[in-house]
Amino acid sequence: MNKNIVIAIDGYSSCGKSTLAKALAQKLHFIYVDSGAMYRAVTLYFLRHHVSLHNHEQITEALKNIHLNFHSRDYQTHITLNDEEVSDEIRHMPVSDNVSAIAALREVRHEMVKQQQRMGRSKNIVMDGRDIGTTVFPDAQLKIFMTADPNVRAERRYKELYAKDPDITLEEVFENLAHRDYLDTTREESPLVRAADAIILDNTNLTPDEQLQFALDKVKPLLSV
Ligand code: C5P
Repeated sequence: MNKNIVIAIDGYSSCGKSTLAKALAQKLHFIYVDSGAMYRAVTLYFLRHHVSLHNHEQITEALKNIHLNFHSRDYQTHITLNDEEVSDEIRHMPVSDNVSAIAALREVRHEMVKQQQRMGRSKNIVMDGRDIGTTVFPDAQLKIFMTADPNVRAERRYKELYAKDPDITLEEVFENLAHRDYLDTTREESPLVRAADAIILDNTNLTPDEQLQFALDKVKPLLSV
């Protein structure tokens, strides 16, 4: 019986995980899932509804009212929150500033992991995030752990965000990435950590094409069995 293939890409914030994951999915005709977008959409809901992070009942109730859906178009992330397209809004600073605290909540993680596991049950997928190779798909056939120099990461993200928001500063972006990395690596529930069997990809000095080639070389043996 053919088992579907799962490729897990984890790593620090703004390491280019989604760029690689999208390119890989496109090349292989796999489904791409941006797990960070799910935590971002939950965060948007929590902010809009003033959900207290200390009130477990409120959190549980909020999660019951959140319905997330991905709509695949051109391998870009199109996510809806209760049928509203929120793909742009979830990239704005208020969400980026709060997402890691909300993603650290046990109830939130359990619900998201459950939904993510469902998506990878029968289809070939590439999923990027923080805990994909450790918690969501510990049996993934290929795990890549991405890292890059923090200054390079901040500059890359700054350029992306500046195009939409010229008021943003490089310092603000750097601080946000450092803060998220800190919370993501130190949380109790499935912290960001390299899975023992993950291949490290430091892309500080690599072009997107070089990264894609690196990953394709690792995928090849999986496709020929
Ligand atoms: O991937 P992205 O940077 O958009 O993710 C936003 C935030 O969501 C991360 O900083 C992290 O706190 C959280 N996240 C997570 N687990 C994942 C994906 C994202 O905790 N699998």
